[in-house]
Amino acid sequence: MNESNETFFAAVGDVHGQHHEMVRLLSEWEARTSNSIQFVLQVGDFEPHRNEEDLETMAAPAKYRQLGDFPAFYSGEVLFPWPVYFIGGNHEPYGFLDTIPKGGPVLENCFYLGRAGVATLYGLKVTGMSGIYSPAKFESPRPRISDLKKRSNKDYTYFNQEDVERTLDFGRPDILLVHDWPARIIPYEDRGQFEQQRRSPNYTSVGNEYARVLMDLLSPRLMLCGHMHKKYRNRVTTKSGAAVDVCCLANVERGEDSVAFFRIADDGTIEEVIE
Ligand SMILES: [Zn+2]
Repeated sequence: MNESNETFFAAVGDVHGQHHEMVRLLSEWEARTSNSIQFVLQVGDFEPHRNEEDLETMAAPAKYRQLGDFPAFYSGEVLFPWPVYFIGGNHEPYGFLDTIPKGGPVLENCFYLGRAGVATLYGLKVTGMSGIYSPAKFESPRPRISDLKKRSNKDYTYFNQEDVERTLDFGRPDILLVHDWPARIIPYEDRGQFEQQRRSPNYTSVGNEYARVLMDLLSPRLMLCGHMHKKYRNRVTTKSGAAVDVCCLANVERGEDSVAFFRIADDGTIEEVIE
């Protein structure tokens, strides 16, 4: 048994509707280590579709358009065993999530952080920004949900300048959640891991500049990201000299690479638990 006062939390990569598998992976860790998770942070592509109508508003090719496990949770048949806090990725029912752009509970033990939002959990300030980057959409306001039928679902999947500014306005977080990775976090020595990687031709093109801007200006202690469906860790020193632990998570389908566990020590330090 864990007899100290340490607090543990988990981070989870893209779920893509496999909520049962997410719960299984986290429960298995609790059983194996006898530690208790207090909360879960999820980095987008959570896919909380309540019904077919929500699913219609997700941007994705037809073969990926599936309701997934969320309805079992939404109906109350199953409950998330821990409070789960998620941001939006690029495959989400934004017709649903944009009804609560500032975030809020979507059901018991399940909270959307909003297009940009903040939560205080066990003394830690956790900030999240939803969506991915598109140079063409960055400066425009997001379409309204009343225009859903007239617009492509993709138009709702991007963050814009306003979201970045709001995220900066929240000030320095302990933990920052974004969907896609910050640019330039991969050193030359690690380039071999990024050959033939999905969504990027090589290691220098991974990530986006605005996630990097958030990292550089906010200097979170820990930054969590998904999107690439790849596990990666690095400690990045920003221009201001701050060290940021970047934790990139694979998708839930890949099993243990999709989850990470952290300990909050009595002095407030956050440290990944490596078994
Ligand atoms: Zn994904």
